[in-house]
Amino acid sequence: MQAVISKEKADRLDSILRCSRNAAIVVHTRPDGDALGSGIAMRRYLSEKRGLQATLVVPDTLPQTLRFLTDGEPLVNAEEDSAGAESAIRSCDLLIVQDMNAFRRAGSLEKALDECPAREKVLIDHHLNPQEDQFTLVFSTPDVSSASELLYWVLKALEGSAEKLPAASLYALMTGMTTDTNNFANSVFPSTLEMAGELLAAGVDRNDIVGHLYQEFSETRIRAFAALLGSHLTILPGGIAYIVATRQFQKEYPLREGETEGLVNIPLGIGAVNMSLYLKEEKDHFHVSIRSKKGWSANRMAMEYFNGGGHELAAGGNLYFPRDIASPELIYDYLAATAARFVQKD
Ligand code: 5GP
Ligand code: MN
Repeated sequence: MQAVISKEKADRLDSILRCSRNAAIVVHTRPDGDALGSGIAMRRYLSEKRGLQATLVVPDTLPQTLRFLTDGEPLVNAEEDSAGAESAIRSCDLLIVQDMNAFRRAGSLEKALDECPAREKVLIDHHLNPQEDQFTLVFSTPDVSSASELLYWVLKALEGSAEKLPAASLYALMTGMTTDTNNFANSVFPSTLEMAGELLAAGVDRNDIVGHLYQEFSETRIRAFAALLGSHLTILPGGIAYIVATRQFQKEYPLREGETEGLVNIPLGIGAVNMSLYLKEEKDHFHVSIRSKKGWSANRMAMEYFNGGGHELAAGGNLYFPRDIASPELIYDYLAATAARFVQKD
């Protein structure tokens, strides 16, 4: 049950790689394990197996929790080096976009991507509604766990077996698939387990990955979860649950980037909860993470009420103040009104 990569598309990618010299790989803003895992895997493959110059460009902050994956990997962070990031995008002859469905998901890099003069532009992604007209070759399906999984099937179509891919690529792909499935809790397809089996057989140390991902948190993270779930969880009529981490809360519990990963899934463990929202207050907006159970569209909630989108059961977005709500304190009213309207429409 492998995700099907047609021979025609694999051949087309193969000939693109033969004709290219200088690739830029770009992933989405606030990169997560799947964005970084697929990005690192592709960069390693291009430089080690195909002899290309390849630069991985990320729009902004890397999660501290993924340092085990990113440390020592050359990449350009646009937040620290915007000139370097833009120049990598403007000077490449092959642009590869992964784990996002449109240039606008690259935050501050959107303009450089819009103006990118590369001859070939390849998309490898698993989100809904890919912006196909921005690319010359598209690998896109929502029927895989992750961009990392899809990239595995693409690379396997090119090389024939996992053993022919760089070990660092395999390790990064296993990491990205593991974080996007929340360690096999969601978005698991037959092809996902097949991929995992093949990577294990090829020697990927999954225990090492799981140890890094789930057993190296700070004490503050665990205590913050207890506080957020104990005193900041509200369940609205219709089974829409939310947790808000205000700026004040974040001062009390200084969490590092990436440390609240997984929190939004926990309220879904309650039988009466159908959808869970986690909101983090930033300088001029709330970032929201949304998860839902079957029949409840996290994607619709994100698109209609939070300027975002994503997958059917896992989505996200942003709510700006004063544009969308006059001030941050009004978030609770906004959530109550939004939940009522959302439930009414269903
Ligand atoms: P997370 O809640 O893990 O940050 O994001 C879950 C999914 O929601 C992501 O894979 C992505 O598809 C989508 N997503 C998260 N944040 C945004 C956003 O700001 N805009 C859009 N369009 N999608 C987002
Ligand atoms: Mn992903």
